[in-house]
Amino acid sequence: MTGPGAPARPEGSAGPEGEAGPEGAAAGPEGAAGPGIRRWHAELAWLGRGGVRSGVLIEASGGVFRTVTPDVPPEAVPPGTERRPGLTLPGLANAHSHAFHRALRGITEAGQGTFWTWRERMYQVAGRLAPDSYLDLARAVYAEMALAGVTCVGEFHYLHHGPGGVPYSDPNEMGRALIQAAAEAGLRITLLDTCYLTGGLAPDGTPTPLSPVQQRFSDGDAARWADRLAALGPDGHGMLAPHARAGVAIHSVRAVPPGQMYPVVEWSHRLGAPLHAHLSEQPAENEACLAAYGATPARVLDGTGALGPRSTMVHATHLTRHDIELLGGSRTCVCLCPTTEAFLADGIGPAGALAAAGSPLSVGSDSHAVIDLLDEARRVELDERLASGQRGRFGAAALAGAATAAGHTCLGWPEAGEIVPGALADLVTVGLDSPRLAGAAASTALESVIFAGTAADVTDVVTGGRDVVRGGQHLLVPDVPAALTQSLRPLLD
Ligand SMILES: [Zn+2]
Repeated sequence: MTGPGAPARPEGSAGPEGEAGPEGAAAGPEGAAGPGIRRWHAELAWLGRGGVRSGVLIEASGGVFRTVTPDVPPEAVPPGTERRPGLTLPGLANAHSHAFHRALRGITEAGQGTFWTWRERMYQVAGRLAPDSYLDLARAVYAEMALAGVTCVGEFHYLHHGPGGVPYSDPNEMGRALIQAAAEAGLRITLLDTCYLTGGLAPDGTPTPLSPVQQRFSDGDAARWADRLAALGPDGHGMLAPHARAGVAIHSVRAVPPGQMYPVVEWSHRLGAPLHAHLSEQPAENEACLAAYGATPARVLDGTGALGPRSTMVHATHLTRHDIELLGGSRTCVCLCPTTEAFLADGIGPAGALAAAGSPLSVGSDSHAVIDLLDEARRVELDERLASGQRGRFGAAALAGAATAAGHTCLGWPEAGEIVPGALADLVTVGLDSPRLAGAAASTALESVIFAGTAADVTDVVTGGRDVVRGGQHLLVPDVPAALTQSLRPLLD
């Protein structure tokens, strides 16, 4: 459940700056199946409630699926149709990303520490970024995501201003760099423009001042945050470009006092925009919140109207029974980031209890310790097994749904994430011929892919009917490893 759907996208449309979004990315073979029409014949395709079907003929035009027909034998396939060996899924949604955290991959594993010591390293990287370097880094990171099958990213964006908190001449220059990066990497983006005002809460609940790096995150107060968001220029449906929509975010109860949360909630309602927030990632956050406000973070957010079906709470790791009832009862989505939660020693969240209480679940790669949505999805179940001693709380279809339809919906794109007529024409094909997946049976192909597949098994990605990845090669960023190396090195020297 989200706000109004995106307006219809004219075929081949481009962003307002003329950059090609996913709908304007590399086209398929001209005239292969008639003007503007593309057809694929999937050896196997996961059709949501329809399960995994074989011989699925998929037709799209104008960036939207028109027909989806299972059990079509090869001899009945129209000329010009592209074969898709393997298992084809809807596009994957990475519902929680901080693009620049990718710079810390690996280097924070040399030695010990906690979430809080990792955060100090992360702030060092944040302090070095400028709009140009942010564009280069985000383009490369989003290209890595595309190679992993991601067709839409939710970028939780709080690095707004220059050193010392001085706004750039365009105060949204950093956000616009992210929107451009997504277009150039062939992704859709929901820019979750984040309100971040205070340095944190001391253990006794006292607000702490912004550190020098944190000054770059802050607009001063929520009214000025709202003014900057207005200047970003979303239309009445929250759209920023054909491939980009605006969302809003409350960084956390650590960074936004409750009285400053109302303008963020108001903007979510005004634009029909998704509202995201970090919630109870660490026990210390809960303890400081209780000391400051006499309530858990979930209760504080509930008290400001920030929960509901348009909202997504990220992590939700350390919750009380009442918190779970608040989230589930309000149909608030929960975005789990299991690899990050493991890498940062956050803990294991109550995914099963949240789902049972009514919260849809999505997944995100967050700090990008790895970028692999199949890994994120299976860890939701594997963490549940470790915590409960039971197998099978979440089946492969539920986990695939978290990485596809639920993720797109929580980012404000409910028209994506399913292979059905009328949905945005996003396809991700996973090869079944790698050493990891060879021998997979058709009847359990989805189980094989979710529980044993990796990002490296993704062969082809189509976004809005246009090719972004073909045969494991990104068509818009030709050398993704080089792009990552060139953008990361200056941040780490
Ligand atoms: Zn995060």
